[in-house]
Amino acid sequence: MEMVVTLPSTKPVVGCDMIPYVRFTPPLPRPLYKLSYTWDRKIKKFCSVHPSELATVECNVCAKLGQSYNCCSVKCYKEAWPTHKHSHPNPSTSPESDYRDSVLEYDDSRQWEWVGSSEFYKPSEKDVNCILRVTCVAQDPAEGTPLAPVYIKETDPVIPFPPLCGRCMIESGSYQKSHLNFETQSSDGFTFSVLSYNILADFYARLGKHNYCPDWACTWEYRKKNLLREIINYSADIICLQEVQSDHFDIFLESELKKEGYSARYKKKKSELYTSNGSVSEGCAIFYRCELFKEITKYELEFDQIENEEKVLENLEPEERPIRLKRLQKDNVALIVILGAIKPGSTGDGFHDPHMLLLKGRITHIPAEKENPVGIWACLKLEHSLDLVSAYASFFKLDGIEEKHLKRMNRQNHEPLFTNYTEEFRGTLDYILHTADSLKVEGLLELVDSGSVASGEGGYLPSPKWSSDHIALMAKFRVKPPSPSELALSLPQKI
Ligand SMILES: [Zn+2]
Ligand SMILES: [Zn+2]
Repeated sequence: MEMVVTLPSTKPVVGCDMIPYVRFTPPLPRPLYKLSYTWDRKIKKFCSVHPSELATVECNVCAKLGQSYNCCSVKCYKEAWPTHKHSHPNPSTSPESDYRDSVLEYDDSRQWEWVGSSEFYKPSEKDVNCILRVTCVAQDPAEGTPLAPVYIKETDPVIPFPPLCGRCMIESGSYQKSHLNFETQSSDGFTFSVLSYNILADFYARLGKHNYCPDWACTWEYRKKNLLREIINYSADIICLQEVQSDHFDIFLESELKKEGYSARYKKKKSELYTSNGSVSEGCAIFYRCELFKEITKYELEFDQIENEEKVLENLEPEERPIRLKRLQKDNVALIVILGAIKPGSTGDGFHDPHMLLLKGRITHIPAEKENPVGIWACLKLEHSLDLVSAYASFFKLDGIEEKHLKRMNRQNHEPLFTNYTEEFRGTLDYILHTADSLKVEGLLELVDSGSVASGEGGYLPSPKWSSDHIALMAKFRVKPPSPSELALSLPQKI
């Protein structure tokens, strides 16, 4: 039987688990074998004479004395001998030829030190620049006899985790002086931020479309840490993520963001793929700060169900139906969470009216359309009666935006030049939309410069720096005071 051990990448990164994947030929189901691992780190010693050179020999006499003296070569040791021998006992009687008995070449067994025996290894700062080695033994669980030859794999030198790449907020203060009287108009000056980010599901990242990205930066073990650090750093009040793999939501994102004070909601697509974590899917996740918001209700949409239930295609011209149907059947889903803002200082139910945040405005005028309250799928072009505008476009239309930000914008429509940047496609697929009559954009997360993506490692997204093929968008909103008619809002039972 043959056993092959694959590591997520050959280049380990500090803090990212190295989880070996073991495969047998012919295949062997899990209960029929027991695996044990040994993780070793290659000791790095440098020449005592030439400190920048790696040592290949050491002084045997010094080692016995508990000291360390290493040289880059036998020649180096020989040249140093006339001086070095004086650090040995009885140097005066030691003939010049004695160097041969004292020098010892590093053999393989003495170059490695044990660092772990579990089924994965998380490299630490101590491992930086060192080569790691995993030894994997497969045994019969009952007999303890070996099932396959021992598998030994060495890695490239461990690299440090790259530093965080920050993106600044473009604040509106300097651009919108004429509108600054908002503060006084607004009942409480309530502001909140919304982040939207397609984080590239791991099973799409494995399809081989992103080969320009170095292996180690394409692994989920690296991407999840880099993405989480980036998301937490933005400190948004509401986080909307797309392409969230169901197992990664369950075992990583929900718990990690809970630690940061967020509650979570998730809606996955129906189509599943088989992975090492079983059958998984991907979908949308919404996280909101529990100290700021309370969930009032949520709606889930499965677009491929809409045709079955609503017969929306009947409203269309016959020639339009096939293409619309195709779009509907793509297994797209939507997750809508209605949040109420908790008034500062209140204990629990002291909400702002829910309409202060979302779906405010036109929705209040169509209470009769209960089954389709926002008209969201009225004719499959996602037409609706909300007066939505794009946060980026409306902000970029303002005067006085710095040239460096304008250069990252499409001058025709004022949207970002790109939110998706791969070898195959470069363009804008992501938007943050809001009702302009109830919310005002006060700030935006600056866009990523295409030049910095192109000149970075790989030249496209994802890259070591940015761990998705999309970039994150974020807008900071201020709530405008409601008009009296809007106070009579009732939320639909079903969407
Ligand atoms: Zn010595
Ligand atoms: Zn040397």
